[in-house]
Amino acid sequence: MTQIIARLVLAMLILPFAMIIMATAFAVDVAIAGRPEFEGILVGWIITDLFVVVYWIAIWRSSIRWTQRRVASTLGAVGGGAFAAMLGIGALRHLIGIPIEPATMFGNSLFPLVFVLASVFIWRETAAERFERMRGRGVDTVACPICGYNMTGLREARCPECGVVFTLDELLSAQSQEQRDDVPDH
Ligand SMILES: [Zn+2]
Repeated sequence: MTQIIARLVLAMLILPFAMIIMATAFAVDVAIAGRPEFEGILVGWIITDLFVVVYWIAIWRSSIRWTQRRVASTLGAVGGGAFAAMLGIGALRHLIGIPIEPATMFGNSLFPLVFVLASVFIWRETAAERFERMRGRGVDTVACPICGYNMTGLREARCPECGVVFTLDELLSAQSQEQRDDVPDH
């Protein structure tokens, strides 16, 4: 299993994990109060939301280029998620007239939705970053596919070590194959 597949599996598990945490908090709330109670639901959601933020960042943090702007935007996404949740709860309560407990229960699902969605856009690599990364990666990875001689900086596609002449596409596809195998995802 490659790193990226492992991460995707972990990413998909965020939903069942969050539901287990929320359900546990809900069960504790009912056990203490004898019925679903607003404060208990709120605390349950805050714990669940914190889990979502920490878990999501833990999965992806090493493949994110953490600039000041990205850190600030990520904090903004947490705030945006909380704001969306409050709007959702308010809308369910006042526009549709649902009692505060179920309104909080359902309305807050906007938090993980907004936060995770925003993170996709905030953490996405820009074209400039991608160019820089590819260039940084390519520098010492142009090796002869036959003997492994470092062909970096040569002006022709002939290996000075073993003498084999490659076409540019042979050389390129051999490199990208090697990168896929050797280079970690981040
Ligand atoms: Zn060679």
